[in-house]
Amino acid sequence: MFGYDLRYAHGAYVMSGGRTITSLPSTVVRVEASNGVVGWGETCPLGPAYLEAHAGGARAALRELAPELIGADVTTVNDVMDRALRGHGYAKSAIDIACWDALGRALDVPVSTLLGGVRAPDFPLYVAIPLGPVGDMVLRVREERAHGITRFQLKLGADPHADAERVREVVAEMNESEVVVADANGGWRLADAVIAARALEGLDRVYFEQPCPTLEECLAVRARTTLPMILDEVITDVRALLRASMEGVNLKLSRVGGLTRARLLRDLGVELGLRFTIEDSWGGDLTTAAVAHLAATTPPDALLMASFMNDWTLDHIAAYQPRSRDGRGAAPTGPGLGVDVDPDLLGSPLFSA
Ligand code: MG
Repeated sequence: MFGYDLRYAHGAYVMSGGRTITSLPSTVVRVEASNGVVGWGETCPLGPAYLEAHAGGARAALRELAPELIGADVTTVNDVMDRALRGHGYAKSAIDIACWDALGRALDVPVSTLLGGVRAPDFPLYVAIPLGPVGDMVLRVREERAHGITRFQLKLGADPHADAERVREVVAEMNESEVVVADANGGWRLADAVIAARALEGLDRVYFEQPCPTLEECLAVRARTTLPMILDEVITDVRALLRASMEGVNLKLSRVGGLTRARLLRDLGVELGLRFTIEDSWGGDLTTAAVAHLAATTPPDALLMASFMNDWTLDHIAAYQPRSRDGRGAAPTGPGLGVDVDPDLLGSPLFSA
C-alpha cells in the first residue's frame, strides 16, 4: 500500500456545505500474484465529509484486509474481502481494481475485454465547475469548452435563486450538443431544491443531480419536477438503484466497492433504461484508467459522460495516461488497465503483507 497527494489543478474545488478541496491523499495498492503478475489499484475519497469514507479509513481497512488476501484467487477476491471485513467498499475498491488489472495482464487482454467488450470506442468527458460567483463559473465553462469539453457539471447548493442563475447563465452559452448537470451534492433543503427545480423548469439540456442528502428527499423533489434527475451519493448498492428509479445514476467505482460491483450496477441500469455518468470520487491515472474501461464497455446511448480525473489533478504516477483528447476519453488498449505505474514516484510502501 502506497500513498501520494493529488492536488486539484484549478485552485479550490468547492462544493455545497462549505466543502473545499485543494489536495487529497490518494491510496494505491499493488497486488502480486503467485505467478509474478502484478496489478495496481487506487482509491481516493473526496475528503472526509463527502461520503462515509476518508483516506485514513481506507488505509486502516486495507491493513485489515491485506493479510487475508495472501493465497486468495484474484477472480473471487471480493468474497474473501467481504468475509474479512464488513463494509468499507471504498477501501476494497483499490484491491478489486488491482485484481482486474492483474487478471487482464495474466490473460494478456485489456480490462475492457473482461468487462464485456468495448462498445464506446470513445466517449464524452465532463468537467466539474466549482461553486463560486456566477461570472467565475461562466469563465471556467468557456475555458473548458475551448478544450473540447461539451459536458459541464455545475457545483451548486448555496442559494436556490443564485444557483438557478448560475445554471441559466451557463445554459445561455451552450449549443444543442452540450449538456449541463446541476449538482447540489445533497446541499439543498427540500424547499430549496423545489424552488431551484421550479426556476429551472423548461430549460432544455439540464439534468438535476442529487439535490438533497437522502433518497427519500430526492424522490419527493422528483415528483415535483420534469427535469431529468441523476442520483449520485445515495446510490451505494443494487437495492438503492432499484428504489431510486431515476433517469440517471452517477456511478463512482469506490462508492460501490470497485469495478466488479460497478459493472453489476451498470449492467442492471442499462437494462432498466438509465443513463450513467461513470467516474470515481477522486483519483489520478489509475482511477482514470479503471473508469475508462468501464465507460468504454457501456452502450453509448446509456453513457451520459465520464470523467478523466487525471485532467483535474496535477500529480501523475503512470505518465499521465490515459490521456483525454478534445474533451473525449477512450480505454487503454494494453493488457490489464493498460497503464504502467512508475513505482519510484510512490516512494516506500506505507505497509506490505
Ligand atoms: Mg455528483
